Amino acid sequence: MESQRLNPLLIGLVTLIGISCSSWAQDAPVRSFEQIADDVYWAGNSTHHTVLLVTDEGIILSDPLNREFSTWLKRELDERFGVPVRYVLYSHHHWDHASGGAVFEDTAQFVGHENMLAHLALPSADTPLPAGADGQDRNGNGQIERAEASGAFQENFELYDFDGDGALSGAEVTRGALNDVRTPDITYADRLTVKLGGKRAEMIYTGVHSHTDDMSIVVFPEASVGFMVDFISIVRPPRYIRGDQPIETWFAAIRVVEAQGFEIAAGGHGTYASSSYVTLFREYLEELRDQVAAGIAAGRTAEELQESIYMEAYEDWISYAEFRASNIAGMYNMLTKEF
Ligand SMILES: [Zn+2]
Repeated sequence: MESQRLNPLLIGLVTLIGISCSSWAQDAPVRSFEQIADDVYWAGNSTHHTVLLVTDEGIILSDPLNREFSTWLKRELDERFGVPVRYVLYSHHHWDHASGGAVFEDTAQFVGHENMLAHLALPSADTPLPAGADGQDRNGNGQIERAEASGAFQENFELYDFDGDGALSGAEVTRGALNDVRTPDITYADRLTVKLGGKRAEMIYTGVHSHTDDMSIVVFPEASVGFMVDFISIVRPPRYIRGDQPIETWFAAIRVVEAQGFEIAAGGHGTYASSSYVTLFREYLEELRDQVAAGIAAGRTAEELQESIYMEAYEDWISYAEFRASNIAGMYNMLTKEF
C-alpha cells in the first residue's frame, strides 16, 4: 500500500495543492469562442456553454450564463461583429445558465418559456427552509443570516437574498440564486420563431420533465444547429440524475429533440457534435436504467451496483469516470422513488 508510506507532511501538501487548484479554477474560468456552423458560434465559460447566431441586424444569443461571462462576451461580440445582441433566448431558469443577461438589456429582448415566470417569483412567505438548508439556521429563527451561511448560500448570498435584508428566508432559499436572472419580456407555450436579419431561431418546449418544467431547446434552422442544456449533454453523461418526475418524462423530452432533424447538436455541457449524440445520450440513460433496474430486481444495493456497473461504450465520454458512480446512485433513487 503505497499511500500508507507517505508521510503526513506530504499528504498535507498534496491536499493544499488540490484546494488551491480548485479555488484557482473558480477564480479564472476558461473562456472559449468557436464557430461551429455558418454564422453560429459556441461560447464557453469552463464547463458551461451557450450559442449565438450572427446576422446583419444583430445577434440572437441563448443563455447568458453569468454576469462576468456576459460582460466578457459582450466585448468579444462588439470587437468581432460590431452588431448588438437583439435577443436573449433562455434554455431554462436555473441560475448557472440564466444569470447575467442584464448586460444586454439596452439592446435585447428576453425570451423564455412561460413557466419561467413562476420560478422567478418568490414563493409564499411561510415557505419553510428546505431540508438540507435548515441545518445552517444555527439560531433557529427560521432564516439563514449572512454569518450563518456556508457553502453555496455563502458563495451566492446576494443572488439568493431577494429582498436584500441580509437574511435568507425559506422562500428565498426555495426560489434559488436567481437575483441576476433578467425576467423574460416575451414568453411562449409550445413553439416560438424569432426572426432577425433574414434568419430564424426556433424555441421548442420540451415538456414537464425530471430536470425542470420550463426547458426550451433553441434551433437555428438555416445552420442546422440545435442547442440543449442540462437534460441532454453532448458526448458527456448527465451531471445529475434526480428530479421530481419519472424517468419516462426525460425520455419523452429527448425524443422531442430527436424529432427536430437538425445536424449539429451543441451542448450547454459537454461539447458539440453530430446530432446522433442526442440519441446516444438517450441510449446511455436507457442502458443505465436497464442495468440498475436489473440490480434492483436482484435485491442489490446502490453501493453494490456502483461497484459492478461500468459502461465501456461510454468510457471515452467527457467526465464518464467522474460521474459514473453518482449516475448509478441517481438512477437507483429515481427508479425506487414513488412519484
Ligand atoms: Zn438546469
